[in-house]
Amino acid sequence: MTTLTASIPVERIAKSRISEVDFNNLEFGKYISDHMLVVDFLNGKWQEPKIVPFGDIPMSPAMLSLHYGQSVFEGMKAFKNKDGNICIFRPQKHSERLNKSLARMCMSEIPEELFIQSLHAIVETDQNWIPTSEGSSLYLRPVVFAYEPRLGVKIADHFKFFILTSPAGAYFSKPTRLKVEETFVRAAEGGTGFAKCAGNYGGAFYPTQVARQEGFDQVLWTDAKEHKYIDEAGVMNVMFVIDGKLITPRLTTALLDGVTRDSILKLAPQLGITVEERKVSVEEIENAFKKGTITEAFGSGTAAVVSPIATINIHGIDYNLPAAGPDSFQVRVKEKLNNMRLGFEADTFGWNYVIPVNGQ
Ligand SMILES: *Cc1c(COP(=O)(O)O)cnc(C)c1O
Repeated sequence: MTTLTASIPVERIAKSRISEVDFNNLEFGKYISDHMLVVDFLNGKWQEPKIVPFGDIPMSPAMLSLHYGQSVFEGMKAFKNKDGNICIFRPQKHSERLNKSLARMCMSEIPEELFIQSLHAIVETDQNWIPTSEGSSLYLRPVVFAYEPRLGVKIADHFKFFILTSPAGAYFSKPTRLKVEETFVRAAEGGTGFAKCAGNYGGAFYPTQVARQEGFDQVLWTDAKEHKYIDEAGVMNVMFVIDGKLITPRLTTALLDGVTRDSILKLAPQLGITVEERKVSVEEIENAFKKGTITEAFGSGTAAVVSPIATINIHGIDYNLPAAGPDSFQVRVKEKLNNMRLGFEADTFGWNYVIPVNGQ
C-alpha cells in the first residue's frame, strides 16, 4: 500500500515522558504518549492539522458537546511489524465508520486522506511509544467533539478532532461471564447504536454495573423491542460456533460494525468454516446449549481481538462453554490476524498501512 508523506507541523515536547512508562506493566489506557494531533473544523472547513505536546485544552463550560453529546470516537491499533516498520491496521475501514458516526450525529465528516495522514503523522512522531513485546501495540484514539460554546440546543459549527495514542500490552482476556439482558436497552433500531458516539457508553454503564453486582462481567444486549434477538456484548461484537458454523448477528442500526468482526468474517473461509450473518435468537442459543451443538462463543474487538466467553446466563440459568483449545476457531483466527498484522503471513486483503521506519 502506498503511504502518504506526513507534512504536518510538529511542536515537540521539551522533555519526553517515556521514561515514566513501565513497559512491562502496561495497564490499558494508563499512559498517553508525548504528543497529540489536533485539527479544528471552523468556518465551514477542516483547518490545517498540527501535532503538539499532549496536555489540557481550554474549554468553555458552555461547550456544546458537554450539554448535548455531540462526541464520537474510534479505537484502533498500530504495531511494529517483524521488519521493524510501523503498521496501522485498516485505517480506511475506521475512517468509513468514523464518518458514519459523524454523519449520524450531524458532525462534520473527515476526509479519508486527512484522517489517514493524521494517523500517519502522530504514530510516526511517537513511534518510540509503540511497544514491541509480543501481543503489544500502540492504541490509537481519534475523537471528535463539538467545541462551540452556546447554551441553546443546536448543531455545533466548531468541532475539534484529536488523536491520542497509548501503549498497550498484550491483552489476555480471561473467559467472561455474560448475562442476556432482558430489562435494559443499549440501542434501538433507528437509534445511534451503530455509531461510536459517547452517549452509548454512558448509557450502558448502569446496566453493566447491575450485571457486575450479580456476578457477571458484561451484558449480552438483545433487541430493544422484544429482547428476543442478540445484538452484541458490552463493547464487543459476539460470535458463536454452532454445528461447526460461525454464526453472528447481522448488522443493524442497533449494533456496532466492528472492524475486528469484519476481519474475522473475511478470514473465516480461509480457516475452513462457513459463516452465517443473520438474526440470532436467544432461544436458538439456549437450544444449542441444551443439544450440545454450541462449541464456542466469543467477543470480538480491537482491544483483545478475541475474548472467550465462558458462561452465558439465559433467563437466570448459567450455560457453560469449555475453555477454547489450540484447535478452536477463535484461537486460530486470532493467531492468523496477528500474523497478518506483523507480516508473518501475507496481507491478502491489503489491511496494513505500512510506514517504513528510517534505516529499514
Ligand atoms: C468499538 C466497539 C466494538 C468493536 O469494534 P472494533 O472495531 O472491532 O474494535 C463493538 N461494539 C461496540 C459497542 C464498540 O464500541
